[in-house]
Amino acid sequence: MLEITDLHAEVAGKPILKGLSLKVNAGEIHAIMGPNGAGKSTTGYVLGGRPGYTVTGGSVRFDGQDLLALAPHERAAAGLFLGFQYPVEIPGVSNVQFLREALNAQRKARGEEPLSGGEFLKLAREKAGLLKMDMEMLKRPVNVGFSGGEKKRAEMVQMGILDPRLAILDETDSGLDIDALRICGEGINAIMRRPDKAVLLITHYQRLLDYVKPDFVHVLAGGRIVKSGGPDLALQLEREGYEAVA
Ligand code: ADP
Ligand code: MG
Ligand code: MG
Repeated sequence: MLEITDLHAEVAGKPILKGLSLKVNAGEIHAIMGPNGAGKSTTGYVLGGRPGYTVTGGSVRFDGQDLLALAPHERAAAGLFLGFQYPVEIPGVSNVQFLREALNAQRKARGEEPLSGGEFLKLAREKAGLLKMDMEMLKRPVNVGFSGGEKKRAEMVQMGILDPRLAILDETDSGLDIDALRICGEGINAIMRRPDKAVLLITHYQRLLDYVKPDFVHVLAGGRIVKSGGPDLALQLEREGYEAVA
């Protein structure tokens, strides 16, 4: 589904990704761990097409397409979802409005009919239920006044509604208490653990991986994958630290 080959990228003229290669098949969950400043978030931004993140070499194929040739909204319409480490607030726009616009824009780009208000609310209610999120909450402006845990849960509701093929989730576990962590983990499993979908889970800590069991764990350091293994690698990293292991 995703094939990253020898990817090089820079931010503000500074090389950050230095030969990153990674293959993700449908049905797989990959965790990417690594020290601060390793280039984890940069990897997500480059794959999402964020302005200012310049690819200087290598290639990325997504479902056989040249991902880097697509504009950010085309990547989303093709089935790529990016969860952010720092979700943005959008005062004056409710979650329901925002999510319906986002979904219908993607449907339009794929040549599908938009969902009516009623159809959309039914879908939103179902996905909010998965994340134990009250519909009243989704009527409030996007992320305004939400706690860290509520922002992440709202983001997982968004993921459920958009129904992507590949989700790249950047530190979904940061700022979550134990209950929110479990709810988010179960939400990710319910939405994304399917034979036709895949997840790249970027995380500092092993604890989210107790809920979302990865098939593969990679260590990203210095802008490259320096070590890969199974779920045990995450436990070893937690015990021994990045320096000792990678
Ligand atoms: P991680 O997510 O692994 O902690 P990042 O991908 O956020 O790491 O950052 C990798 C490196 O790129 C860091 O050294 C960071 O300071 C640098 N960096 C990221 N974004 C910018 C930016 N907009 N301008 C300058 N440097 C940046
Ligand atoms: Mg960081
Ligand atoms: Mg980061």
